[in-house]
Amino acid sequence: MLHNIEQGISLPPPVVKTIRDEIYWQYAKLISKSAGFGINQRAFQMERFLALRDGRIHWSSTIREWVKEHEKPDECIYCEVKGDLTVEHILPQCCRGPDTPDNAIKVCKKCNSSKGGKRLYEWIGIKNKDKIPRIAEGKYLKLLYELHEKKRYSTYY
Ligand SMILES: [Zn+2]
Repeated sequence: MLHNIEQGISLPPPVVKTIRDEIYWQYAKLISKSAGFGINQRAFQMERFLALRDGRIHWSSTIREWVKEHEKPDECIYCEVKGDLTVEHILPQCCRGPDTPDNAIKVCKKCNSSKGGKRLYEWIGIKNKDKIPRIAEGKYLKLLYELHEKKRYSTYY
């Protein structure tokens, strides 16, 4: 589990118990980051986490990521280099990632071949988890959630 790998870095609070909770917890961090509270604003993150978990707010669709993604259509989502972009599956197809827009982003060839068949957190590294571009992580978390709900995927990252 993530808890073990992450030990000593930044443990989620005890209220985060299930895989679903972990996905919500990480997504709540994204919300608090984009709200300008920074990644260490745990109180805000906790409030958003509870709201997601208890169904008071919904992420509902990937529209937010879609809009942000299209603001800079010629930039690599990972490293922001401009130019020749290729389609990358955030959850690789070899890990049962679907071939759908929700699982695809445009990235440069260098990032694409560096990531290869790795999953997002595996590629970036758990220690750098908080530095993942929001678009990629937002889409990834929603996708994992969906796959998890359908019981097609059983790990968090
Ligand atoms: Zn790149």
